[in-house]
Parts: sequence; C-alpha cells; structure tokens
Amino acid sequence: MSESLNFLPFTKPTIDEETIAAVADVLRSGWLTSGPKVQALEAQLSEYFGGRPVRTFNSGTCTMEIALRIAGIGAGDEVITTPNSWVATANVIIETGATPVFADIDPKTHNIDLDKVEAAITPRTKAIIPVHMCGLPCDMDNLYEIASKYKLRVIEDAAQAIGSSWKGKRIGAFGDFVSFSFQVNKNIMTGEGGCLVLNNAEEARLAEKYRLQGVTRNGLDGIDVDVLGGKYNMTDIAAAIGLGQMKRLTEFNAKRLELAQYYFEQFGSDFETRTGAELPVADFENSNWHMFHLVLPERINRAVFMQQMLDVQIGLGYHYRAIHLFTYYRNRGFKEGMFPVAERIGKQIVTLPLFPTMTKADVERIVSAVKSRLL
Ligand SMILES: *Cc1c(COP(=O)(O)O)cnc(C)c1O
Repeated sequence: MSESLNFLPFTKPTIDEETIAAVADVLRSGWLTSGPKVQALEAQLSEYFGGRPVRTFNSGTCTMEIALRIAGIGAGDEVITTPNSWVATANVIIETGATPVFADIDPKTHNIDLDKVEAAITPRTKAIIPVHMCGLPCDMDNLYEIASKYKLRVIEDAAQAIGSSWKGKRIGAFGDFVSFSFQVNKNIMTGEGGCLVLNNAEEARLAEKYRLQGVTRNGLDGIDVDVLGGKYNMTDIAAAIGLGQMKRLTEFNAKRLELAQYYFEQFGSDFETRTGAELPVADFENSNWHMFHLVLPERINRAVFMQQMLDVQIGLGYHYRAIHLFTYYRNRGFKEGMFPVAERIGKQIVTLPLFPTMTKADVERIVSAVKSRLL
C-alpha cells in the first residue's frame, strides 16, 4: 500500500483548548484535589440526571463496589450479572465478598437476557448488575419489574450509557443505583473517573464516607471514622476536564448518532445476508452509540481480520471477551459452554472506529475495507 492513510483508532477523546486552559487554571489555583470543580461537576451531573443525588469518584469501577456496599451486600450474598462486559463489572462483586452469578446475553442486543436473570434468582440473590452495552439500554420496564418482584437492588453499569434514554427518560434520571464511567474511551471523560447516581441524601452521605476512608468531619477539628472506606475521590484536575466535556456531551452524542446511521447506510441492507456478519441493533432513539460493533461470521478468524484492518491503518477493538473464561473465573468453577452466546460474541466481536471527530469519508473507508475482506 503506497498511499499513506491516517490511522483510525477505534476511539479517541475530543479535547478542546478551553478545557486545556481550565486544567491549567486548576493547576495554577493551588487546589488540585477534590474541591470547587468537583462540586461544580457533581451539581451539573445532578441536574443532568433529573435532580437525583450524584457523587463523583476516580473510576466507574469503585462506583459499583460502593453501591454494593451501600446496599449492604457482602459475604453469603449472590449478585447476578452479565458475562459480556469489562471484567470490572464482575470483579466488584467479588471485592465485596459476594458471589457473582452470570446470566447469558441476548444474541441481538448483547445485553443480559432478563429471562435468564429471573431463572438464576435464588433465596441468596440480593442484586442485579446489568450493563447497557454500547449505550443500548436493557429493557428497563422488565428489569425493574423483576427487581421489585424479587426485592432486589439494581446497580446499573451505565459506564457506556451517558446520554442514552429509555422511552424518553434519560438513563440515570430514574431507577436504583446508576454508575457511569469517565474513563478516557467513554462518550465523555475525565482521564479516569466516574459517578454514581443515588436515591437519597442518606445514600449520598454513605457514598462520601466509602469514597474517603470512612471519614466524617464536624467543625474545625471534629473527625470520626465509623465505616471502612477507601481512597476513591476525584481530583479537581479531572473534574475540570469533566466540566469541559459536559458542555459538549449533546454535540458529541449527536455526532456519534449521525456516524452510526451512516455506517448502516454504507453497509447496506443486504450486508448481513451476504456476509453472515451481524450489525448492531439499529436503535436511533435510545442509544448514545458508545461503540459500533460487528460480529464476524464463524469462518473469519478475528485476530487475522484485525491484522488485515491494521494493515490499512484501521484499529479495531474487541468488547468483550466473556468474563467467565478468564483464568481467575475458571478457578472459581466457571467453564466453556456455560454461557454460549457470550462465548460466541466474545470470540467474534469487533469494535469499529467511532468517535466525534471522525468524518463520513472515514466511515466509507472503514466499510469498504470490511466489505473487501468479508464478501
Ligand atoms: C469502562 C467500563 C467500566 C469500568 O470503568 P472504569 O472507569 O474504567 O473503572 C465498567 N463497565 C463497563 C461496561 C465499562 O465500559
């Protein structure tokens, strides 16, 4: 290939000069750790999520662990989750001492199959952690119906779902605990970071304790520790990035939607039948299009395909390999064949480039490269 092409990664953050200046201002201010920027970001997020209490953290992982702790979940309890996610989703359950129970995913949406969730409930089940994969929400009516029927807490892993909605209601603005990540690959980011949407002031107070060593302060020199907390607070440096990103969230998500629609247009309606590959659910109402997935047909070896795309300067991701097949989980008794849909998706899925500064010409280049290898 003599032509020199620009490299297209599967994702890339958009950072403007105003945000860079805001970070520099924080550095000059002398107040670097959690302070006024964190408070401002939490206030904006709370407004974004319909006035619910929101606290920020240094990841979208500890948010879920803290939600489990607030719910009083630990040793002896079972928590049902999906095997198709970033491993963090299941790790947090084990961190609290509880037992992860997996339910396989729906082959179309790649979200947890709620019928399988219901079948996995036992007297020890205390909570469900569903994931809104790629920002496509789970069936929220069905999810919360099951939760209320069996009296289970829900910790939505909405790491990928900021700006997504369900029947006109924003994800995070309703439901039980809702956890978002601001890791650098997400639709908005703070470098590393996350936030947790809570139900009431009491939960928010507990979240603050778990976030910082269990500490409560009172007056100038009053301090006590009455729960075991960790060190999970967000810095003002990160919050300044988040404030810059919040300003552009609507614009970023609109651009992602436009590019996703263009992907479908370029692939064409006969692409799946001609290649045996699977496109994502064409949802242009609810999803924030965090990622654009393609499930390769069985005849295609994913690593070979990824290399062929890399040869033409297109970087693909794979989200995700089935969690239960990792060694740590195999050592806990999970094995091949237990969750066949997640296993097949885990082996054959690729993530195509999708980020707000991409152009329609980039989409054309990607689709034509994919087609030339699959047709
Ligand atoms: C990114 C992500 C996480 C973890 O978020 P961090 O901020 O990296 O800790 C968890 N679950 C899902 C589905 C994610 O995409």
